Parts: sequence; C-alpha cells; structure tokens
Amino acid sequence: MALTGLQIFKMLPKSNCKKCGKPTCLAFAMALAQKKANLDECPTVSDEARTALAEASSPPIRMVKFGTGDSQVQIGQETVMFRHDEKFYNPTVIAVNVSDSLTGDALKSRLEQINELQFERVGTHIQVNAVAVVNDSGSADSFAACVEAVSQGSSLAMILLSESADALSAATAKVAGVTPLIGYATADSAEAVAKVAKENKCPVIAAGADLETLADLTEKIKAAGVEDIVMAIQKTALKDQLHTLSEARALALKKTFRPLGYPTISLAVQGSPDEQAAEAISLLCKYSSVVVIETAEKYAVLPILTAIMNIYTDPQKPVQVEAKIYPIGEPGDDAPVLLTTNFSLTYYTVESDVEASRVPSYIMVVDTEGTSVLTAYSGDKLNEKVVGEALKKHNVADLVKHKKLVIPGYVAVMSGKVEEETGWEVIVGPRESSMLPKFLQEAV
Ligand code: SF4
Repeated sequence: MALTGLQIFKMLPKSNCKKCGKPTCLAFAMALAQKKANLDECPTVSDEARTALAEASSPPIRMVKFGTGDSQVQIGQETVMFRHDEKFYNPTVIAVNVSDSLTGDALKSRLEQINELQFERVGTHIQVNAVAVVNDSGSADSFAACVEAVSQGSSLAMILLSESADALSAATAKVAGVTPLIGYATADSAEAVAKVAKENKCPVIAAGADLETLADLTEKIKAAGVEDIVMAIQKTALKDQLHTLSEARALALKKTFRPLGYPTISLAVQGSPDEQAAEAISLLCKYSSVVVIETAEKYAVLPILTAIMNIYTDPQKPVQVEAKIYPIGEPGDDAPVLLTTNFSLTYYTVESDVEASRVPSYIMVVDTEGTSVLTAYSGDKLNEKVVGEALKKHNVADLVKHKKLVIPGYVAVMSGKVEEETGWEVIVGPRESSMLPKFLQEAV
C-alpha cells in the first residue's frame, strides 16, 4: 500500500536542511508520495527509515537499463497514464530485428542498413536505439555466432530473443559486458532464463498471454534474483495488445500493483513497412517501452521516431530555439529579414524553406515562449512591441541597409501596428512556410 506524504514525513529527519532540493522535509515527503522525488536525494535519512520507505519510494514502474556507454537505453519509470497529466519520461526504444539465419554479406548489409537509421529533425538527432537478434534458426551455435557478429557490426544496444535458455546462455556469453536485454522467460523457462540473466547481470523479458500469467512470472523471476524485468504480452491482435498494455499500466500506476510495475516490449514485425510503422506508433502511444520492428526502410522508421519525439516532449515546455537573428546562407546588407517565433517546429520549417529558396536571408526569431505564430498572436505573445524590442535588441538596422520586415501571412493583421511601432515597412509573407521559396525568389 502506498504511503501518504504525512506518513513518509514522520520517517524523515525533519531538519529542513534543503539538501534534497526541496525547501522542507514535508515538501520532500509530498514529492516522494507522488513519485516525483527519489529517496536517495535525502542524504541524511536513517537506514531504518530507508528500509521502511523503500517500497513507498520506489517508482510504480521500475526503470530498466540495457546496453552500455553511449548506447545504453533506459525504459520505464513512467508516472502517468496520459502525457498531459505531467509528461512521459523515458522515450520508447525502437529496435530493428536481425534474424540469426543471416550470415556473411547478408548480415553485414542488414547491419549497415540499420546503422544508417539516423535523422536530424527540428535540430535534434534521432535514431533507432537497438538491434534485436532473433533465434529463427533454432540453433544455439548460430544464434551465438550471429549475436557476436552483430555486436561487432553495430554499437547499438542489443536484445536477444529466443525460446531456448541454452541458446540465450550461449549468446549472452558472447556479448558479456554489453548488458543485452534477453528473453523470453515463459512459464516453462522462467527459472532457467532468469539464471542466465542473473549470471550475466542483464535484464530479462517475461512473456505471457495475459496479465495473471505475467504477474506470476515477474514474481517468479524476482524470487530467482533478477529485479530488472521487461514484460512481453503475447497477443497477436493489435487491439488486444493495446488493451492489455493499458490495463497493465493502469494497475501499476493506479493500484501500485508491483508484479506488473515493469516496462514492456512489443513486436510490430508483420506486414508492409507502412503497416509496421502504423502499428509501432500505436504501440508506443499505449504503452510499449520497446517496440521491435522488421523494416529498416527510412521512410517507415522516420515517422515512428518523429512520433516518439512528439509524445515524449514535455507538453508544458514546448521545444524552443534561441530567440535571435539567424543568418541563412551568407546574407548581405540587402538580404530580406523574416520574422518568426521560437517554437522549434515553426523555426526549423521556416529555416528549411528559406534555405530551399537559395536567397540568403536573415530570420529574426522572437521569444513567444515556444508557441507557434498564430498561438503566440492569439495569446498576445507576438505583438508590435515584441517585434520592436527584437529589432532593437538584435541591432537589425545595422545588419541591413533597408527597413523592410517580412511577417508571416497569418498575422497580416498586425502590419499597421508594427509599422507604427517600429518605423519599418512590413511586407506580408505567405501564410504557409512552404510558399517561402517562391515568395523570396519573386517578391522580395
Ligand atoms: Fe529534509 Fe532530507 Fe530534504 Fe534535508 S534533505 S530537507 S532532511 S528531506
């Protein structure tokens, strides 16, 4: 049973020393009760209290890490059902599968294709995070050889998938030190697979068709000495998977049901690349911590990574770029000056369209707290005063010999006030950023 803030408070030192970053022990106790703080942040809590509070302070969904160094990933430790309640913390890991029936050049080529699944989007690097080696051959030796070859051909985190504890043991021994995620531990193989995981200090996947089976399995694996568990729900229909994943999440978060308080892994390996992308996005929305896909087509993988990026952004803190003047190309003193807001998606869309125009330009980004043009205008975060202050702050009049400012077409209504406030001539740009290349080439 979860403890209340007051129950936790009674066990804290009550010195209000602030070393935990909270102003008082009571504030820390409240944060702990809401799973928004970690007991380790209080350096002076007694061992006795630490033991008593361990259960209450542990997250409702355990964090699990696998991989090493820069490739290490962490999953779980989520605290809410819905992103808008707070935020989601540890982005879904996307793994691409590799069959152990592949050898030689075919395996090399598959790994090269996977290693290239990296993209730049709105100023951020995104990529797949793991390779899932699948024991399709049924042979422990082939599986171990393939796992070893994958570890040499890719620096991504590894997931080893086999029904055989012997195959998992042989393969895990080949990649000692890279901490793979291994599975499957089923009702029949739980003890044997847990033994492999314990010996190699790696997390294990518990696989069951329903929540009762999974809860029994996780308890069994935990009793065998393995704490880091990931749950796989063995259902084929997507709607059944989503339903069961949602139930598991609700039981873990709302009922603090510890046997289901683990991250999850799902497969989206059937169908065309488009179908896999659609299924993977559904699964990562509700609530897969790892999704394994078969496709390595860039056009299918990019939407999946984009969805993760969007869902794991803090909804209360839109991704922003710095409010300043951005030169695009090598603008001279006759270059156009375009106005936009500091919402990342808006800025990078405008930036790429200005680049596409091949017209060297300046983009003046104003601080609208990360909101888009229309939202900022509606909320009075984009007005003539904001524009006037930005022109002065960035000394735009010293950069160009003209006094013409291109504003987004959606806020044409502010033209007059901007002209009055700043003394600059306003040119109303297109409503859609995609029209900027034509506009810049013809109209400015
Ligand atoms: Fe209280 Fe511990 Fe925080 Fe100090 S660090 S204020 S003792 S909870």
